[in-house]
Amino acid sequence: MHQMTLAEIARGLADKKFSSEELTKVLLARITQLDPQLNSFISLTEELALEQAKAADARRANGESGALLGAPIAHKDLFCTQGIRTSCGSKMLDNFKAPYDATVVAKLAAAGAVTLGKTNMDEFAMGSANESSWYGAVKNPWDLEHVPGGSSGGSAAAVAARLLPAATATDTGGSIRQPAAFTNLTGLKPTYGRVSRWGMIAYASSLDQGGPLARTAEDCAILLQGMAGFDQNDSTSIDEPVPDYSASLNTSLQGLRIGVPKEYFSAGLDPRIAELIHNSIKELQKLGAVIKDISLPNMQHAIPAYYVIAPAEASSNLSRFDGVRFGHRCEHPKDLIDLYKRSRGEGFGTEVQRRIMVGAYALSAGYYDAYYLKAQKIRRLVKNDFMAAFNEVDIILGPTTPNPAWKLGAKNSDPVAAYLEDVYTITANLAGLPGLSMPAGFVDGLPVGVQLLAPYFQEGRLLNVAHQYQLNTDWHTRTPTGF
Ligand code: GLN
Repeated sequence: MHQMTLAEIARGLADKKFSSEELTKVLLARITQLDPQLNSFISLTEELALEQAKAADARRANGESGALLGAPIAHKDLFCTQGIRTSCGSKMLDNFKAPYDATVVAKLAAAGAVTLGKTNMDEFAMGSANESSWYGAVKNPWDLEHVPGGSSGGSAAAVAARLLPAATATDTGGSIRQPAAFTNLTGLKPTYGRVSRWGMIAYASSLDQGGPLARTAEDCAILLQGMAGFDQNDSTSIDEPVPDYSASLNTSLQGLRIGVPKEYFSAGLDPRIAELIHNSIKELQKLGAVIKDISLPNMQHAIPAYYVIAPAEASSNLSRFDGVRFGHRCEHPKDLIDLYKRSRGEGFGTEVQRRIMVGAYALSAGYYDAYYLKAQKIRRLVKNDFMAAFNEVDIILGPTTPNPAWKLGAKNSDPVAAYLEDVYTITANLAGLPGLSMPAGFVDGLPVGVQLLAPYFQEGRLLNVAHQYQLNTDWHTRTPTGF
């Protein structure tokens, strides 16, 4: 049962082969049995899950249908869930029970999805390895000595290990696509503004975007359908109709123009990954796609710009965690300053503190123009590169990451080495574009992802290309041994 995709579950539930309650019990037992190896969950919500499953079964018995009605999922632990701990992977919020549901959580619940739990993540979504979580590192089910990627590493490891079919995640600089690549999943970061950020604890507000992590493009379409849409509670949500994503999956790729940026294949890319990416290009050519060489000349400036903008926004967003209103508070403060200092010093981990300091520095009066303003200018150049490219091509294709998943601990002493691994993913966040990562093969037994980028609001096109590719390849069906 645990091998089923969301699409298969929807068919099975509709045909009354099993109930959502039965399926939920199987998966909860599987999580209890296998997750100790992975550490992919921060909280299990067994009671809520069984209640939601029974309610979904009752709705089906009353004649309702829907792809998510009775479908088991989990939420990355930065989506607020009413009455349930929402920790953001931090000691700071270990005692925080959200007083309301995030829009994404409420929408999926209304569609009948069943919440099995809250998944582990890098603290405040800062990281690429899921090692900065206060709840401990998450292990990659493909090799327990390797990282699953981050910051949505818990969602990725759980779905890859078949603990559940799909999960929500967020992507500020790659945190959906990179863990998807590292664990052989399909992950989609939507256009900025497509999915509401209301109730999603902010890291860098102008870059954060929620999206689905699943094993197939077909399942990402189902989950995105339940997440996307205008929300008046989010001032950057865009009032644009949500298309039927599943209906877009079967369009022919005949004549689709795919741009391959030459900058993606420079030094730094593992040549074995380059070869797999070229194989995926050949596969898409067989399906009728036309390949064009393109250039994104400002790509080289994206990492420095991102690592100024994201910490700057984080330093501002995280100032609300002061030990006064909610979150961790130190014992016996001497005075107000001592309360702030010790509560924040105790509540935040090293990487979060580093980024708050970098961000506050970049925003300070003497350095604002030199760093923050400069980074915003680079951001515009990165966007302009994409706009020029999309005048000529329909999709941009390349690797999701320069290397496969690294060993646990391998980059802990050198944060910049980890930042450099974001080179292919962060440009989409800087420009606000949608991006998808899908399985493209293995290097030394570790999964490799190919990334597709599309113009604004063309999530359907990304899902279409990925689905057609998955109808003709079987990388996405591979299962890690032991799971
Ligand atoms: N690795 C990037 C960072 O640490 C991206 C994280 C994310 O997308 N949340 O900022």
